[in-house]
Amino acid sequence: MIHLSRILCPTDYSVTSDKAVRYAIEFSRSVNAHVRFLHVHPPENIAAKTAAGYGLSVGGDDAFEVIPQLFSALLMSEKKKGLSADMHIMRGEAAKVIASHAHSWGADLIIMGSHGRTGLVRFMMGSVAEAVFRTADVPVLLVKQSGPEKAVRD
Ligand code: ATP
Ligand code: MN
Repeated sequence: MIHLSRILCPTDYSVTSDKAVRYAIEFSRSVNAHVRFLHVHPPENIAAKTAAGYGLSVGGDDAFEVIPQLFSALLMSEKKKGLSADMHIMRGEAAKVIASHAHSWGADLIIMGSHGRTGLVRFMMGSVAEAVFRTADVPVLLVKQSGPEKAVRD
């Protein structure tokens, strides 16, 4: 028997990936699973790090661990409604981090968008979706960017 207790939902916080987030929330609720959202930051900027090492000040905000307000608001309200969920933020190459975290955490399923921030629909799926689909050792459910939203009802 298939038992889905851990669902991993990677998100780049884009509108396209929000579709997968909403799907993952409803899916997890309906199978009584815990859902973990995962956002991956690009690897550390070596140039900035080197500059900092030489004593140069490096400006700009490091968005690390900053969760967009809309996203955290959605999470909070779903958690209040009883959803079992948490959020992870990691650094590295998105597809590699997603696939290896799915493995080490013991995810039973990955739910992600077919597209993300770039959103070029002429490709069947984006590069992160493609690489995760190819390399992950658990099933991957791709939520398409286009098409009717019959899966999620308000
Ligand atoms: P590309 O990045 O290849 O130009 P794209 O942005 O349209 O195309 P992907 O990046 O493959 O498409 O996004 C597909 C899905 O992968 C997203 O909906 C999201 O679930 C996941 N994803 C993409 N980037 C990240 C990231 N940095 N952190 C977590 N999940 C991500
Ligand atoms: Mn992308």
